[in-house]
Amino acid sequence: MPDSTENYYLVSVNAPIKGPLTYASTASLERGASVFVPLGSRKVSGTVLNALEQKPDTKYALKKIIEVREDRPALPFNHLKWLNWMSEYYLHPLGQIVEACYPPLKQSTKIRKSKKKPVLPDVPYSEPPKLSDEQSECLVNIKKKLHHFGVHLLHGVTGSGKTEVYLHLIDEVLKAKKQALVLVPEISLTPQLVERFSARFQDKIAVLHSGLTDRERTDQWWKAYLKERPILIGARSAAFCPLDNLGIIIVDEEHDGSFKQDEKLKYNGRDVAIMLAKNYHIPIVLGSATPSLESWYNAQTHKYTLHKMPSRVQGRSLPEVHVVNMKDDRAERKEKKLTHDPELPFWLSKTLFENIQRVLKKGEQSALFLNRRGMAHTVQCQDCGYVYECPNCAISLTLHNSKYLNCHYCDYGVTLKDHCINCHEPSVVALGLGTELIENDIQKLFPEARLARADRDEVSSREDLESLIKSVEVGEIDILIGTQMIAKGLDFPKLTLVGLVMADVGFNMPDFRASERSFQLLTQVSGRAGRHSKDPGQVIIQTLNPAHTSVTHAIKADYEGFSKTELEFRRDFHYPPFGKLACFRIQGMNISNVKNCAAILKTRALALKKHSSDYEAIIIMGPAPAPIERIRNKFRYHILFKNFDSNALIKYCHQLLGDQKWVPAGSKVLVDMDPINML
Ligand code: ADP
Ligand code: ZN
Repeated sequence: MPDSTENYYLVSVNAPIKGPLTYASTASLERGASVFVPLGSRKVSGTVLNALEQKPDTKYALKKIIEVREDRPALPFNHLKWLNWMSEYYLHPLGQIVEACYPPLKQSTKIRKSKKKPVLPDVPYSEPPKLSDEQSECLVNIKKKLHHFGVHLLHGVTGSGKTEVYLHLIDEVLKAKKQALVLVPEISLTPQLVERFSARFQDKIAVLHSGLTDRERTDQWWKAYLKERPILIGARSAAFCPLDNLGIIIVDEEHDGSFKQDEKLKYNGRDVAIMLAKNYHIPIVLGSATPSLESWYNAQTHKYTLHKMPSRVQGRSLPEVHVVNMKDDRAERKEKKLTHDPELPFWLSKTLFENIQRVLKKGEQSALFLNRRGMAHTVQCQDCGYVYECPNCAISLTLHNSKYLNCHYCDYGVTLKDHCINCHEPSVVALGLGTELIENDIQKLFPEARLARADRDEVSSREDLESLIKSVEVGEIDILIGTQMIAKGLDFPKLTLVGLVMADVGFNMPDFRASERSFQLLTQVSGRAGRHSKDPGQVIIQTLNPAHTSVTHAIKADYEGFSKTELEFRRDFHYPPFGKLACFRIQGMNISNVKNCAAILKTRALALKKHSSDYEAIIIMGPAPAPIERIRNKFRYHILFKNFDSNALIKYCHQLLGDQKWVPAGSKVLVDMDPINML
């Protein structure tokens, strides 16, 4: 006989199980409480969702909740609601998502002295500067709406002083005895940034990023949770920290792709932060010099409120941008060989070379950027600049085995000939320049110069990056060579020249966001130049495609013009922000299993589409091999779904995935809503 005082609870458990399970307990438990429950022969964590009115009608004896977890505080209702939304939206088990809300270790009982350098810098207080008119105006307009939910898009050019606006808003929120959450891309969460916050708010700041030890992370979490530190600055996962008295959320560099997590729960930190703000009825500020087209479109259609800061503070000018057409450079070299003295490597124009020389002489710094995240090679004619594109998808084709060009969205394919199909010259090459080659060449040309390279090969940890930043800051480096790793947020007083070595590499990534990313990168990178000098900084863009929209608009710092053109393209191809995308990735060790699973999924998808008129408009693309066809010996295929109606697409995806019993052994199906990185 069941105990008459027994209660019944729905508990979401930390396991790959879709819905909650029912457990019994004699204790009275609050919603959101963290518990241990039995699952099979294991003991797992769970979160109490609801108490049931009566004993559920089941033949089996209900298992009992083992205990309430003492080490984990209950989650606030708003937080739980938010997690539940996430579980539905991203098709991920709630019980697993909940794990992200807690720190890795138990709360420490004694005060520890960290042996490492302290987590937070000890910097003296510094008075806020007098705000510019643009800053003041944005501030006033956001302050008016501090007590409601609303998304504020702060579009301010690089160096317009967005951070100062954030600081003032946070100050206001603290005065009202509330907390602030600041999310920034992991890579931008540098000591430079934290110092700026510390200089204003001293010891009111907690930080969470990947460079912390588990102990440090746990301590910071508790300080934020207990409101000892009312400001939490963190990378995307900081959004999960249950702050029940939030007053504002700020997402800096909101356009940044790194807000998207591609592992496990594939969420976008910016998007979930917006939902978090909505649940807490508070404002959220999205800041960027180059807003994502999704956010921009929402501002255009008045879902978000737009605030603009079109000029740099203190009358500093935006950098002067010059474009060097590398086609001309190449032609010149062909005609009259060896006119350059010394002979320059193929990737370096005379203009860029001479500017590096000039800047070196003045004792200032240069940065050379090459956006080469390149896993896949793009094929381009070096004579006419033609890039091999897919006729169906308007994205560039990727070269396989040096012979075969393939579209990674729809699987269109064509064999590569030696001669360019556009100009018939035998000048077709796979682009493959890397930062390391640049470093070698530059060192030969400027043997005296002190170089540093920042890419994934060279900078593998946070500490590496931080010490690199420090050495640039204090002037130990003359020429910095890097990938987009150093494109964002950095503020180096003596950096006056920026060179974009081969802007084209970015244009041709097999991704519909290639132009947007390139434009953002060109603008962000350019924005590093001359931030503190009276004279404008110099930016030199080397390209084979001077007419590419990313270039033509970046030269004029014309974000609005760029987004207008790009939105038209997106509309024509039903890409976001117009259409909604979902990506199903099928992966496994055996290629024929994976192909088979992809075929089954496609069959299911087509059948389901016929099932309801709500699904009529859904466009199915693929299956096709993912751009990176194999990672860690796993083969990867994907199928993309496009639809204008977001709700219908989510419902469709839930039904399509179902209980996953249809997935053949040896394959796995992963769902990515609003995919950003489809490699
Ligand atoms: P953004 O994030 O818009 O690129 P920052 O917030 O980094 O710009 O500001 C650029 C620089 O200008 C920083 O060094 C900052 O301290 C300084 N700054 C910001 N606002 C002002 C102001 N009102 N007066 C003087 N300097 C300012
Ligand atoms: Zn295609």
